Amino acid sequence: MFSIHDEEKVISFLQENKIPKFRYTQIENAIYKNFVSNFDDMNTISKEVRELLKENFYFYSLTVDHIITSDNGQTTKILFKTSSWELIESVIMRHLSWRNTLCVSCQAWCPMACSFCATWKLWLQRNLTFSEIVEQIMYASEILNKEQTILRNIVYMGMGEPFLNYPNVKKSIEIACAQKKFNLANRRITVSTCWIVPWIKKFWDDFPQTSLAISIHAPNDEIRKSIMPVDHTYNLETLMQALDEYTAKTNKRIFYEYIMLNWVNDNIKLAYELWNLLKWKLAHVNFIPYNPWEWAWWIEYKATPKFLIEKFQKVLLEFWVPSTIRATMWDDIDAACWQLANKTAKEINL
Ligand code: SF4
Repeated sequence: MFSIHDEEKVISFLQENKIPKFRYTQIENAIYKNFVSNFDDMNTISKEVRELLKENFYFYSLTVDHIITSDNGQTTKILFKTSSWELIESVIMRHLSWRNTLCVSCQAWCPMACSFCATWKLWLQRNLTFSEIVEQIMYASEILNKEQTILRNIVYMGMGEPFLNYPNVKKSIEIACAQKKFNLANRRITVSTCWIVPWIKKFWDDFPQTSLAISIHAPNDEIRKSIMPVDHTYNLETLMQALDEYTAKTNKRIFYEYIMLNWVNDNIKLAYELWNLLKWKLAHVNFIPYNPWEWAWWIEYKATPKFLIEKFQKVLLEFWVPSTIRATMWDDIDAACWQLANKTAKEINL
């Protein structure tokens, strides 16, 4: 059995069975325009062809394990189970201006071992296939379609490091942006990386319009190394050099993610260091309030108080480095990426 999102497989199957090629357009319309997720509901296609498709293709290999919506209705967290029993997460974030955003996972789970993150505690099981990533997009689109709204943005900020699974991430972005499929603008996709330098050049060649977010989390190697082991391989100097090349090539603003950890990376003098690192660059900093996991007793991190995050941000704004403090839309559903899966995995002893 193959995924229905595997265009090459579907087209060659139609050819082998002497089914006219225009049927593929009908299949595509049914899936991506009408959000049909059942062969029996593809009423533009003959029953005979539907039966053949049913025997050879599937819509979903993922099954929904949990689905939780926050009290304010803005955020929905979907915990999927893969066919090999790993738990992965997606989060839908609804915005009044229709800028609905989906955060997808690209690995089950993650080997990068950032110390503030729960995902790596599950270790890496495997890379997700492109169709497993696309299924997350499909499922969220179906939910939003029922609410008579649409998906506008995708961020690759869920479980996993996108550049460690680049071929599948690439293919899923191509499907998300294909005019006859999800038809999302390239600039509405953001790939967030904790920085795997060799892949960045490939990324800017493949997707010059797609946005890039860098998990920076500290303005110097000393602190960065203590919370992000990747800094031992690609330090800040290497990082900034490659990012300068990226900006020169694409002329695109880079988003820098900075999780605020009390007494770790929130000293005000670090705000000046961060400014020094980013001054005169096309940069935008997103400060992320830390969402502590009360059940994880071995983690000592605490959230930075709001006034201190604002003070930190003020330094950057004073010196013309744009920044935002990410709204916490989801504390009541453990929706900071990774938390629900980790909690559930713990509960069921995965
Ligand atoms: S923060 Fe991202 S890269 Fe780091 S361990 Fe978590 S999922 Fe992996």
